[in-house]
Amino acid sequence: MKSLLPASRLPSFRARLLKWFRRHKRDMPWRGGRDAYRIWVAEVMLQQTRIAAVLPYYRRFLRRFPSVRALARAREAGVLQSWSGLGYYSRARNLRQAARQIVANHHGKFPQSLNAALALPGIGRYTAAAVLSIAYEAPLAVLDGNVARVLARLGAVRGDLRRPKRWQELADAAQSMLAEDAPGDWNQALMELGETVCMPKSPRCDECPVASYCRARRDGLTEEIPEPRKKPAPVEMTVAAAVLSDPQGRTLLVKDPGAHDHVLFSRMWQFPAVQVNADAREELAGLLRNTLGLGSVHLEELRAARHGVTFRNITLLPFLARVNSLPKIARARAVPLERLGGLPVSSATLKIASAALTR
Ligand code: SF4
Repeated sequence: MKSLLPASRLPSFRARLLKWFRRHKRDMPWRGGRDAYRIWVAEVMLQQTRIAAVLPYYRRFLRRFPSVRALARAREAGVLQSWSGLGYYSRARNLRQAARQIVANHHGKFPQSLNAALALPGIGRYTAAAVLSIAYEAPLAVLDGNVARVLARLGAVRGDLRRPKRWQELADAAQSMLAEDAPGDWNQALMELGETVCMPKSPRCDECPVASYCRARRDGLTEEIPEPRKKPAPVEMTVAAAVLSDPQGRTLLVKDPGAHDHVLFSRMWQFPAVQVNADAREELAGLLRNTLGLGSVHLEELRAARHGVTFRNITLLPFLARVNSLPKIARARAVPLERLGGLPVSSATLKIASAALTR
């Protein structure tokens, strides 16, 4: 890959982009300070989640766990509850584990060295570079989807950007372009440009502060770069779930029933559920019989719901089953159905509960 910009144009390019960022950056609750913890939590939440969806979670999370030490002291269930609905729950588990390691090994302060940061659970090269550059001005360039798109358009880079060789070339290019006197602002400026101006579809080139440096714009290639990624074909699957209900309005939640793909419920409290092969009602009745000892129970079909997890398109088929008493088994708990929102459960579980509450 040729260099994205001639070396002679790099200083003016940097100056323009930084000036634009400092004038136009959006006001975000993690901006404006150098608190590595707040920046780290934001970067983790923003992985795979849009900013608008993250904001209310972020504010609540910081109120509940205002420091690394508070997060390290927290129980996993409490952290998962605060994360409930954001998805990809391993992020929350890793965040808490990393906080515990930071308290145990780094006096409660996010480490300043790249290797120490990378040794923490859930922290990869992108997150480490983002936190260290923004909090400590470490000279480390970030490369995420937004930055890669901006760089590829600037240099009119064709082909699949996610190919490992191409990605590494872009990472090297990002590092060589880094404004070393302001790495935190620089990284945020490139990300901000990608999020607000150089968007995936219909980039707003007329408002772009670096349009005069952009080869894709010059050559009329902005809609062709980056090339669309070849996504794996989505897998369709159906999961049937039983909402048991006793005369007091309580339902039964279980953990790790092992009867289906655990990604859907993220190893949190969930309704008894089974992945359906042919007949949802029959297979769910079989699960209730074999794992909960419920011999004959009427299953009332509720409104189906759709749920997407990465490349899976899941149809959730909830069934209501009225019982005189809830089974007493290990790794299960009885809870009022309408109070599920206060527990660490996945959004798939909330969709099933909602079908039962609004039938
Ligand atoms: Fe992106 Fe257009 Fe700016 Fe080029 S000119 S960097 S395509 S917004």
